[in-house]
Amino acid sequence: MYAKDLEDDKLHEECGVFGIYNHTDASAMTALGLHALQHRGQEACGIITYDGDNYYAKHAFGLVDDTFGSAEVIDSLKGNIAIGHNRYSTTGQPEFRNIQPLYADMDHGGFAVAHNGNLTNTNELRQKLVKEGSIFQSTSDTEVIVHLVAKSAEEAVPDKLIDAVKHITGAYSILAQSEGLLIGVRDPYGIRPLVLGTLGDAYILTSESCALDIIGAKLEREIEPGEMVIIDKNGIQSHFPFEKKAKRFCIFEYIYFARPDSFMDNKSVYEMRKNIGAELAREAPCEDADIVVPVPDSGVPSAIGFAEAAQVPFELGIIRNHYIGRTFIEPSDKIRHLGVKLKHNANRAYIEGKKVVLVDDSIVRGTTSRKIVEMVRAAGAKEVHMRISSPPTSYSCFYGIDTPDKEELLAHKMSVEEIRDYIRADSLAYISLDGLYKAVGETKRNADAPQFCDACFTGDYPVDLVDHNKPETKKKRVTGLRNRS
Ligand code: AMP
Repeated sequence: MYAKDLEDDKLHEECGVFGIYNHTDASAMTALGLHALQHRGQEACGIITYDGDNYYAKHAFGLVDDTFGSAEVIDSLKGNIAIGHNRYSTTGQPEFRNIQPLYADMDHGGFAVAHNGNLTNTNELRQKLVKEGSIFQSTSDTEVIVHLVAKSAEEAVPDKLIDAVKHITGAYSILAQSEGLLIGVRDPYGIRPLVLGTLGDAYILTSESCALDIIGAKLEREIEPGEMVIIDKNGIQSHFPFEKKAKRFCIFEYIYFARPDSFMDNKSVYEMRKNIGAELAREAPCEDADIVVPVPDSGVPSAIGFAEAAQVPFELGIIRNHYIGRTFIEPSDKIRHLGVKLKHNANRAYIEGKKVVLVDDSIVRGTTSRKIVEMVRAAGAKEVHMRISSPPTSYSCFYGIDTPDKEELLAHKMSVEEIRDYIRADSLAYISLDGLYKAVGETKRNADAPQFCDACFTGDYPVDLVDHNKPETKKKRVTGLRNRS
């Protein structure tokens, strides 16, 4: 597993982070925050707290409530400062040692760190660090940050972290805590989200505003691309230690990944999704459709937008069973197929004899669409027309959204017509790239300086894919410790 973990092209860090400073119930607040961010990662979670003398940690596989729903666990995590992390499942075997936040005792004291995103040059850095004597405990990207901080010649912890982060490339929102400091860093392009909130005298740094809502905290602002915030007993300070870049926030957060009740970049995710659906209806109308049906849950807001713009009734023509996770988390193709069946059922009463427009956010391998179209037909639909609220996903993400290798992406190997044929729909249309940009508030995509990271649709990667482009750095892997608990 260790060897494979580091060699394949799959991405492993699609996550949610939550940190709080100066709250008497820091661990409970963090558990609640992570619970609100559960959609960002369901494989594992962890919290590290600090009470002024000691650090306390709990890491576990599974959902947040399974572990942090216990008063005993929460009480054991003492202190007023906490950081926590949700980890997304990958196709590889999960390993306990990779559960974040990571912790290390350093010369200056304790240091805990967690991040959301994906670092693109860690194989290279790791090899160098190992040669220089660093002993790695995990296969996580994040550990590279720990070693770089430990080796930094700077005095102050924030300077050590700046020093470390200057070596890394990628998309990241990092939370760290050390000896009474809470620090947040967002990558220079602001690809992954990070917001600042307050609750009375407490400060919060987290991936999405929905994690503030759950504890009644106020959304103060976005952490800016390339910004580092340092929170301590004197309040909050902001720094911009990196070379300035034009913002390239991940447009897929608006399409699929973020929770619809979150605000990202001061925009309601729900509203953006409705706008995308409306734009899609204008670009790719479906004449004489009887009903618009979302593929739940991710297709719901864009289907509402589509139905409103097309003036076609919106119906829940597919019912989702909420007691299973996202289809995507299933590790093998066989189970993934089964997952689709377990998860959705056609609402025959509303489908039979109808010309149905199905709306989903994306087609990745096509498993979901193919099954859903088949299911809707089996329930008696007259015609099934598929509308997708993103452009074709033709390229892998290297910045923290878990996507398969591009060879497995349907849109990489097939034309839209071939995909339509594969999913057996009567028609298929995706929103255009410019239409998507329009829906999220731009006039169009600026080809010379795109306003978002849209690499999954365009292959235009704003940050160097250092490891990916140097396969030789992946070779030097050894088999490692397995199943530590
Ligand atoms: P597929 O069945 O492989 O075509 O996957 C498409 C479905 O997966 C869509 O319904 C999306 O809502 C969902 N999806 C798209 N991207 C991701 C992702 N990165 N992680 C989890 N689910 C995803």
